Amino acid sequence: MTDGPTYGFDTLQIHAGARPDPATGARQTPIYQTTAYVFRDTDHAAALFNLQEVGFIYSRLTNPTVAVLQERIATLEGGVGAVCCSSGHAAQIMAIFPLMGPGKNIIASTRLYGGTVTQFSQTIKRFGWSCKFVDFDDLDAVRAAVDDDTRAIFGEAIANPGGYIMDVRAIADIADEAGVPLIIDNTSATPYLCRPIEHGATLVVHSTTKYLTGNGTVTGGCVVDSGKFDWSANDKFPSLSQPEPAYHGLKFHETFGALAYTFHGIAIGLRDLGMTMNPQAAHYTLMGIETLSLRMDRHVANARKIAEWLEKDDRIDAVTYAGLKSSPYYERGTKLCPKGAGALFTIAVKGGYEACVKLVEALEIFSHVANLGDTRSLVIHSASTTHRQLSTEQQVAAGAGPNVVRISVGTEDPDDLIADLDQALSKAAG
Ligand SMILES: *Cc1c(COP(=O)(O)O)cnc(C)c1O
Repeated sequence: MTDGPTYGFDTLQIHAGARPDPATGARQTPIYQTTAYVFRDTDHAAALFNLQEVGFIYSRLTNPTVAVLQERIATLEGGVGAVCCSSGHAAQIMAIFPLMGPGKNIIASTRLYGGTVTQFSQTIKRFGWSCKFVDFDDLDAVRAAVDDDTRAIFGEAIANPGGYIMDVRAIADIADEAGVPLIIDNTSATPYLCRPIEHGATLVVHSTTKYLTGNGTVTGGCVVDSGKFDWSANDKFPSLSQPEPAYHGLKFHETFGALAYTFHGIAIGLRDLGMTMNPQAAHYTLMGIETLSLRMDRHVANARKIAEWLEKDDRIDAVTYAGLKSSPYYERGTKLCPKGAGALFTIAVKGGYEACVKLVEALEIFSHVANLGDTRSLVIHSASTTHRQLSTEQQVAAGAGPNVVRISVGTEDPDDLIADLDQALSKAAG
């Protein structure tokens, strides 16, 4: 099909990027399980290597199955191009790599997925990069953190572990003033609930491991470019605006225009960092994405019903779901994510650490795992698992205090989920 802007989300999540296989007519996107592609002749090979012709060379760079997924996610996010990667964390490194250099920094929200905090606070230092963590509700502090070496601002639309909604437009305005891109991790929201590019984001990253695939089968990630950023407006982004020595002097922005960042991601990022998504993973994610809107509607309806039930329960001290009218982020949520505030939140359980451990052990439908965004309902007690190494003060600051359990609400029968929570909370209180 030709992807016109007139098609609705439910149509695009099934069709965007795909067409019947030209060789066989296969209706479903085949898994092109191949490493390499035969060149027509040496001139064809030379044109491909010079980026004068777009085509397939080697699956570290491009693969037809992965290419369909890239176009699908780019379309759903309203971007011009996308690069899929081996995981969400790979996508984050791939997203900032073209922007950075030794001594450069990014500014990130204090409310992020725990693994991202570690990646940005520890691991990127080895590249000579650094990150300043700032409360994104304090716009003056975000503005004040920008300096001459800042190259990007990074936050999550709906932040993991849940309950925080970012004011994407306000932070995008600060990024515009600073002449740097705003990168949004849209994993928890998905493009069905939130389209960050419409609120001013330049780039969107995903862990496709979560809702986009939807059933806990494969890891993957994606970087989407809005195509709207002028990489040549200042001298901050030489990899995109200046001759690229790793590509015989090619100027990406001048040559590829709005697709410069995406082409750089493939021709330099995947070529040299090699964080490639494999075609099997792309296949599973393509299967998942076909039902994204149907699943997200159910995830949200279940999350709302369960959060409302939990909020009234006197075995619970607090529920952080931004879809609750009592949440300080309720209003912001209705603007950023009008179809719902996702399905991820935390609860504070009376009885602290001990009660939380009993709760997660007594649950029968919910699984105790380090994952989210699955059709299955999942819980994790961060203080005894992912945040074990932190002090109690650090755990509390991360929204993962000893009395906190994170819930990723699945698509099962909500009454069964409530009954499961009810029996487990009784055991936890006993
Ligand atoms: C899981 C997750 C990541 C990391 O993705 P992986 O696929 O596990 O590498 C990043 N951001 C958020 C919000 C996540 O939930």
